[in-house]
Amino acid sequence: MSNLERAPEAITISPALVRAVDVLEARKAAIGDGTEVRRLLPQQVLRTVGAWCFLDHYGPDNVSRGTGMQVPPHPHIGLQTASWLFEGNVLHRDSLGSRQVIRPGELNLMTAGRGIAHSEESARGRPAILHGLQLWIALPEADRFTEPSFAHHAVLPVVHETAATITVVVGEHRGEQSPAQVHTPLAGLEVAVRGGDGFTLQVRPDFEYGVVAVDGPATVAGARIGPGLLAHLPAGLSAVELRPAPGSRDPARFFVIGGEPFGERLLMWWNFVARTAEEITRAREDWAAGRFPPVRNASAPPLPAPALPAGRLRPR
Ligand code: MN
Repeated sequence: MSNLERAPEAITISPALVRAVDVLEARKAAIGDGTEVRRLLPQQVLRTVGAWCFLDHYGPDNVSRGTGMQVPPHPHIGLQTASWLFEGNVLHRDSLGSRQVIRPGELNLMTAGRGIAHSEESARGRPAILHGLQLWIALPEADRFTEPSFAHHAVLPVVHETAATITVVVGEHRGEQSPAQVHTPLAGLEVAVRGGDGFTLQVRPDFEYGVVAVDGPATVAGARIGPGLLAHLPAGLSAVELRPAPGSRDPARFFVIGGEPFGERLLMWWNFVARTAEEITRAREDWAAGRFPPVRNASAPPLPAPALPAGRLRPR
């Protein structure tokens, strides 16, 4: 075989270009009453991005009528939950006694460790529109039985670049460090691209990344995404192009998660991140028997644990 072109073009192949972007479709899921979410992680073909092991994108929804988001008390083990809003507010309560309204630009970071319970609901007097992300971070073996804790970060570092504004939600970017305490090398960035020709985000070659388009169609490293799609970029890149949709010069927001590929095998079921079926079964029994500490002043009774699957729980 030979290339029969009369004027063959020179093609540069760099490692950054050899690696393809995977675009993965969300599953639709319901959380509590009336809030439908796009579940972007975990997926059959992608369990985690770094230690990020769960990613729901919900809204924008009009919650001015009805109950809005109502997630009654439920337990977690072995993870941190990170809550991030683009619009609206959510009231968090937990079994440590925390009561915290979260607003756009603020981070709620709850460390479940060996066990915690919490509830999340649309607060009274809320804005009409609710739009946000719910993320989980798997705790590594050394930290997964840590004491539960809750942190609210109202002020996060913001990096202003010519073509974008970047809020450093988790980890570090351009020398700016988030105050959020995590237990593995991670990044969480809200990137607001001003529009036009887009923005080149500097990234770490030792991290893999996932990118969510917050507002509408957009492109990530040349791949078209939009709400309901996750772009996955394997480790090895040093920059990622974030652009509004082709033909659009409107601003576009992205949420970028990244981390060192998580080497530990996980077993996730319901709200638990563990390693073995026995741990999951015990956590479920502890919740069913009321052995988790209660969420005081919750607006709804605790969620009952679903039945365990008929087959054996297996780490994936
Ligand atoms: Mn939860």
